[in-house]
Amino acid sequence: MTSSAARRLPPLPSTRDLLRLYGIRSKRSLSQNFILDPRTLDKIARTAGPLAGQTVVEIGPGPGGITRALIGNGARQVVVIEKDARFLSPLRLLQEAAQGRIIINMGDVLKVNLSKFLDAELRQPWDSPQVPDIRLVSNLPFNITMPFLVRTIRDMAAHDNLFSYGRVPAVLTFQKEVAERIIAQPGDRNRSRLSVLCQNFAQARLKYTLKGGSFVPAASVDVGVMTLLPLRQPYIDLPFNFLEKVFTSLFHGKQKTVRKTIGHLFPNQNRLERADILLSTCRIHPNRTAVSLDMNDFEKIAFTYKDMCDKEPRLKKYVLPELRELLLDYQIEHGLFEDQDVL
Ligand code: SAM
Repeated sequence: MTSSAARRLPPLPSTRDLLRLYGIRSKRSLSQNFILDPRTLDKIARTAGPLAGQTVVEIGPGPGGITRALIGNGARQVVVIEKDARFLSPLRLLQEAAQGRIIINMGDVLKVNLSKFLDAELRQPWDSPQVPDIRLVSNLPFNITMPFLVRTIRDMAAHDNLFSYGRVPAVLTFQKEVAERIIAQPGDRNRSRLSVLCQNFAQARLKYTLKGGSFVPAASVDVGVMTLLPLRQPYIDLPFNFLEKVFTSLFHGKQKTVRKTIGHLFPNQNRLERADILLSTCRIHPNRTAVSLDMNDFEKIAFTYKDMCDKEPRLKKYVLPELRELLLDYQIEHGLFEDQDVL
């Protein structure tokens, strides 16, 4: 069989027809905005680069529009994780047509360890100049954007879950506004803790945007298609949960001066005095805002704060109550921060 014959799928009903055939209507609670235009689906598949020989993990395949574009572009195998059981039948139809190159898993991506679906021989050392023959691709449901993204970055940092296989490149869709926050540079009003967290652990690129009308039903916002490639060495080489606490504190009240927001890292007594000590050690003007800081500044702040925590361990456990709530919610929902580092 020629390689192009191996890639091609036999004639199938279109994705739109599959939805009709199985009587599936979009569920708003699961952020089901489908892409049905074959050219857009193909463009998303091609954003992942050449797919021959690649195992692709796809989150939320729905009726399988992207899945079939991935197979059509030569993916060796596509492992899908879908929460909505109504898609099992259309996905099985695709699976049969693709002669086993699609592996279906029904479940919640926030609760499963994606690495359990992959062959051990696909593993690549993190330090290798080569990335593993694995790609992560998803038209992500908006309802899980934040927990999924933060968990993904945390997994990149810890070389955990899917990233225990090495530096797996990802193609993911985000609300355009979230995409702009991820890539925002110093001075950009979109700069946030998300920008710094993502940029510390991954190279993030906004490849192109899709109009809300490209989706069925139409999305209320435009969507950015992004690539994320884990960095071999993070910019600031400190644990994710420590950095998340530092960045969350600094950006809590973005318009405020860093003197005030760095103060969030300290208990109430002497808060500002200690913020002043930290900032003068880092040679950062106290009237600046977190939005204006670059990665060098964040590095100085994180390491100086770490030195302070090493001298006074109870400081490391201190989290401003409002922030603790924020981190705890996340911990409860997603089982992170198990080492109790920031609690
Ligand atoms: N990939 C399809 C496309 O592009 O047309 C569907 C994309 S739709 C935006 C998001 C998909 O993710 C839906 O099929 C939805 O059921 C699924 N989904 C939502 N939450 C999920 C979760 N927690 N785990 C896995 N899949 C989820």
